[in-house]
Amino acid sequence: GPLIVSFGEMLIDFVPTVSGVSLAEAPGFLKAPGGAPANVAIAVARLGGHAAFVGKLGDDEFGHMLAGILGENGVSTKGINFDLGARTALAFVTLRADGEREFMFYRNPSADMLLTPEELNLELIRSAKVFHYGSISLIVEPCRSAHLKAMEAAKEAGALLSYDPNLRLPLWPSPAEAREQIMSIWDKAEVIKVSDNELEFLTGSDKIDDAAALSLWHPNLKLLLVTLGEKGCRYYTKNFHGQVDAFNVKAVDTTGAGDAFVGALLSKIVDDQSVIEDEPRLREVLKFSNACGAITTIKKGAIPALPTTSEVLTFVKGA
Ligand code: ATP
Repeated sequence: GPLIVSFGEMLIDFVPTVSGVSLAEAPGFLKAPGGAPANVAIAVARLGGHAAFVGKLGDDEFGHMLAGILGENGVSTKGINFDLGARTALAFVTLRADGEREFMFYRNPSADMLLTPEELNLELIRSAKVFHYGSISLIVEPCRSAHLKAMEAAKEAGALLSYDPNLRLPLWPSPAEAREQIMSIWDKAEVIKVSDNELEFLTGSDKIDDAAALSLWHPNLKLLLVTLGEKGCRYYTKNFHGQVDAFNVKAVDTTGAGDAFVGALLSKIVDDQSVIEDEPRLREVLKFSNACGAITTIKKGAIPALPTTSEVLTFVKGA
C-alpha cells in the first residue's frame, strides 16, 4: 500500500512497576519503547499499513533495541540515523491513580535532538503519501531545521501533511514558546489532531466546544480532530462537523491511545483521501480509530497494546 512516513522522536519510557506512586516512591521501573511518532508508525504497521519512521537514535543498546522493535513490527527503518555521541532519549513516566501521566525527561541533548537536515533520507520522505509529525522535534536545533526540511520535501512531493502537536510542556523553555512554535507550522497541515487539553492550551479557552475548535481552523486544513478520551472524538471539515462516541472500556493505561487513534485514521486516509469529504464514511473511520484508541487503554504500555485489524473488528463486534 501507499507509504505513511512518521517523523520525530523515539525514546524509552521508564514506567513504575506499580501505579499511583511518585517517581521517588517507585520500587522499580519497566522499560517501554515510546515516542508518539514511532508509536504512530507501529500503529499503522500493526493494522497492515505501510509505514516508515524517520528520526535519530543513540548508537547505544537502547537505540538499536528501538530500531529493532520498529523492524520487528514491519516499520521501515531506512530513515533512521544513529548519533555516535549522544544517547537515546529517556523519559521517566509516573502513572497517577487517575491514569494521567507526568514525565521527567533525560535529553541533554539526546540523539533525536541532533538530527540534521543533511542527514535526512529525502528519497524515503518524498515517497510518502502521508507525512506525519509532532512538535517535540521543533524544540531545538538542528532537529527543528530537519523537521522543517522534511515537511517541505514531503509537501513538494505531494504528500498529505498530518500534525499531532503532542504537547509536552516540560520540554519547552516556556508555555508561551510552546504555543508559538506549535502554531508556527499550524497552517501547513491538512490533517490535525489535538487532545482536549491541547485545545484548551492552544486557544487559551477553558471551554472545549465548537467555537474553540473552529478558532483553530485554517484554509489549508481538511480535517481537524479533537480527541476527548472516554468521550470519543469530535471532527471538523470544511462542510460538516460532529462527534463520534468512544467505546466503553475499563482503561488501565491510556498511554498511546492518541497515537493508536492517529495511526488508525491515517491508515484509512492513505488508501482513500475522499473519506474526509464523506461524513458517513468518515464517521466509520473515526469509529474504527476510537476502537483502536480504546483497545490501547485496556493493556499496559503503548506499543504492546496496539491492535491488529482483526483485533479491532472482533472488539467492535463485541462492543
Ligand atoms: P495520549 O494519552 O496518547 O496523549 P490523547 O490525549 O491524544 O492520547 P485521548 O483522547 O486520550 O488522546 O485518546 C484518543 C482516543 O482513544 C479517544 O478519542 C478515544 O476514542 C480513545 N480513548 C482514550 N481513552 C479512552 C477511554 N478511557 N475509554 C474509551 N476510549 C478511550
